[in-house]
Formats: sequence, C-alpha cells, structure tokens
Amino acid sequence: MLRRARERLDLYPLAIHANYLVNLASVDPAIRERSIASFRGELERAADIGAEYLVLHPGSYKGQSLEEGIAAFVLGLRDAAAGAAGMMKTGVTVLLENTVGSGAQIGGRFEELRAIRDYAVQLTDVPVGYCLDTCHLLAAGYDVSSEAGLRETVREVGRVLGIENVKLIHANDSKTPFGSHVDRHANIGEGHIGKAGFRRILAHPKLRGKPFILETPVEHDGDDRLNLENLKKLGGRPERPPQALGLPHNLEDLKKLCPKSRTTTTKSS
Ligand SMILES: [Zn+2]
Repeated sequence: MLRRARERLDLYPLAIHANYLVNLASVDPAIRERSIASFRGELERAADIGAEYLVLHPGSYKGQSLEEGIAAFVLGLRDAAAGAAGMMKTGVTVLLENTVGSGAQIGGRFEELRAIRDYAVQLTDVPVGYCLDTCHLLAAGYDVSSEAGLRETVREVGRVLGIENVKLIHANDSKTPFGSHVDRHANIGEGHIGKAGFRRILAHPKLRGKPFILETPVEHDGDDRLNLENLKKLGGRPERPPQALGLPHNLEDLKKLCPKSRTTTTKSS
C-alpha cells in the first residue's frame, strides 16, 4: 500500500531515521546488545517498506577513546546487518549523519564519518553513504552560513566524503552559533545560517540536485508547511511540481501528450 501511495505521490526517496536511542558505539554490553538488535529491526523494517535510506547517528564513545568508539560502531553495524533478514534483496543504504560533535559524540568531523564508511564497506554488504545536516554542520564548525565558508565546506565534503556519497541533506537552521557544538534546530532563515545562507546552500551546484528534508521545530500548526515554502522560495524551485498539475511522471506518457514530438522522433530515428 505504501509503495502504491509513493508512486501516486511521487515520493522519492523515502528516508527513515533510526531510533535516537540506538548507540552502536557504546561499550556498555547491555546498551550495545540492545542497540544492535534495535538497529537490525530498523534495517528489516526499512527493507520491508522499500525505503531507500536509513539515517543513523554514529553515537557516543563515552568511556572509551574515539578510535574504540568507531571500532565498536562499525562492528555493531556489521552485526546488525549480518542478522538482518532480506537485506540483500533490497536497496536500503545506511546514511551516517554528521553531528555537532559535542563531548563524546562521534561524527562532528568529516574524517570520522569517512573512517566509519571505509571500514563498513569492508565489513558489510549494506551500502553506506552520508546525510548532512546543515544545523549540525554549522554547530560543528563548518561555516555554511557564509559564502566563503560554504565553498570551503563543500570542498571538504568533496575531498573527505565524496560528494556522490552524500545522498541526503537535512535542512535545518541553527539556534546556536558557528562552532557551538550544541544541537538546537531553528526554522529556515531564523537561525545562524539565515535566509541568505540557505539561498546559497540550495543554489550550490554540488548540492542543489540532492534531496532536502526538513527537521525544523513544529511549535505552531503549519510551521512545517511554512518552512517548506520558505525553502522552495529560497531555492527558486517551482511551487508546484509537474505531478501536482496532473502531468505524468513517466517520460513515455509525457511524450504521448505531445503527438507532434512523437512524429518527429519516429521520422528522425
Ligand atoms: Zn539535530
């Protein structure tokens, strides 16, 4: 049913977010066991509903070194994926989300995410990519609010992560300033990234083709709609996608709407 609804609404890609309590980097045996089982369940459910992406935070290495935390995380990922049913048949990609890098949180620096992915590709067949959160970037010390900062950040993304591995962008403004390492989402244009910042992010040639997802706070009814509209306005995207106008999704069907072009194609081929 979900698949049919997605086709009708042209909902692509479908990304789901793993439970925030999952901490694959934990040393505590009980937390670790629970996190692996829980993440395995998430992988299976993602595969079941045909989701493209499952977003996961790298977790906290509290009580150990960063290196140990990363090792615990990738091995946990391997164990969760190894026991997951039906993973091979489906196309679920796990996306590591960047964090603000507070305290023992893994994933504030691109190098940490890259290291995890490098190991993960050797340990498991589940494809691994990245999800970048704009609020987390700013708070972690990547200045996506300024023109020069965005240029430098995207260059770093390309150098360390590979722009093609970034499958998704969480569009959130930040209530806390650059480098604060504090994670507080703000409405688009109302935080330290600001309207001009988002306009540049949405227009960036390396980013504008990526799917953007909002995780902004909903304090009043309609806040999410307002954020979406603001994002569209800043990005200069059409307010109504073709499907909303009753146009077909499929190019072949679209061509049928214009018999003249079909004649031309037949002649020339
Ligand atoms: Zn956040």
